[in-house]
Amino acid sequence: MLANRMNNLKPYVPGEQPKDREYIKINANENPYPPSPKVKEAVVDFVENNLEKLGLYPDPDSLDLHAAIADMINKTGGVLSRARVDNGEVTPDPKDKIPFTVTPDMIYTGNGSDEVLSFVFYAFFDSDKKLICPEHSYSFYPVYCGFYDIPRLPVELNDDWTLKTDKMVQLANENHSSTIFANPNAPTSLGLTREQVREMLVKAPKDQVFVVDEAYVDFGGESSIPLLKDFKNLVVVRTFSKSLCGAGMRSGYIVANPELINAVTTVKNSLNHFPMDAVTQVASTAACNDVAYYVECAKKVCQTREDFISFLKKNGYQVNDSKTNFVFLKKNGLDGKKAYEFIKENGILVRRFDTPGIEEYLRITIGTQEQMDKLKAIMEKL
Ligand SMILES: *Cc1c(COP(=O)(O)O)cnc(C)c1O
Repeated sequence: MLANRMNNLKPYVPGEQPKDREYIKINANENPYPPSPKVKEAVVDFVENNLEKLGLYPDPDSLDLHAAIADMINKTGGVLSRARVDNGEVTPDPKDKIPFTVTPDMIYTGNGSDEVLSFVFYAFFDSDKKLICPEHSYSFYPVYCGFYDIPRLPVELNDDWTLKTDKMVQLANENHSSTIFANPNAPTSLGLTREQVREMLVKAPKDQVFVVDEAYVDFGGESSIPLLKDFKNLVVVRTFSKSLCGAGMRSGYIVANPELINAVTTVKNSLNHFPMDAVTQVASTAACNDVAYYVECAKKVCQTREDFISFLKKNGYQVNDSKTNFVFLKKNGLDGKKAYEFIKENGILVRRFDTPGIEEYLRITIGTQEQMDKLKAIMEKL
């Protein structure tokens, strides 16, 4: 009864969401802080004053939203945790300042960056070329490779979990292939500097698309957006789910040169041609317009993260430096699965993977300071 192509599907398994008990949920890298009060205002206003718009199709070009995203990136330099807020005015850290103005025609938006990524895979990766990606990275990439029948060439990581950037570029050249990775990477939490990404782009094939997934960059990474000026084959994918406290909104976007944006738009218009719904467009636009709020949230998450990392180090854990809203850790002699289960029995959900090579590790999302203090008390008993 099923089409043959169904055999290629290996669906993504998200972090569990049990309903049997109230857990502190720090297993899916969601933001512990709620969206800005301005988002609430905008949604309430929509419901009270514009509800008839739900009877009409949403703006297919999402013009207001694309303008708001471009503006947010220009104001922050694309890294919230380092941006400065003075009397409500947001300016980028000098290190992040983008040497050109990001314009709305460089933005594409969709229903979460997962959907955006799926269109990127469709638009740019061929079935007769091996896609270069790190062996351990976002686990949706292999899922889409199965879905679109794209062969994959996973590149192992160094012993310290950093990416083998030279090897990745070398293989991209040998196979004349595209490349994708998350920066900072998941689940390792480590980031490449912009110079490291630039070096990769300089050496990688110029006529193959090079995708950097910046889901976590707002927590202290270095954005590749400034490189768009010199590299027309670069695609930067970002999301509202982590640093913009909006995982439930399903809102993600691309920043790239207009030619590549147009290609992804062609894919969308050939499939589910309407964009995200009208309410999410309003909520996402309101979020961008109150970026100062999210700068503060990102700074709080980073502060809590550094506190938690020093706790872990004091207690004998091996933990990677983190440029994300999660930490990746293990302890010699501690069974990863047992640790996970002990923490769960005590009311806190964290993430672990059965993937060979990382079975002993836990990936723990940074919650509020209060949530992390509860976790610390539990981990002290491990
Ligand atoms: C969370 C995450 C995404 C998906 O984000 P959504 O916008 O919620 O679909 C994409 N890439 C990476 C690396 C992520 O961690």
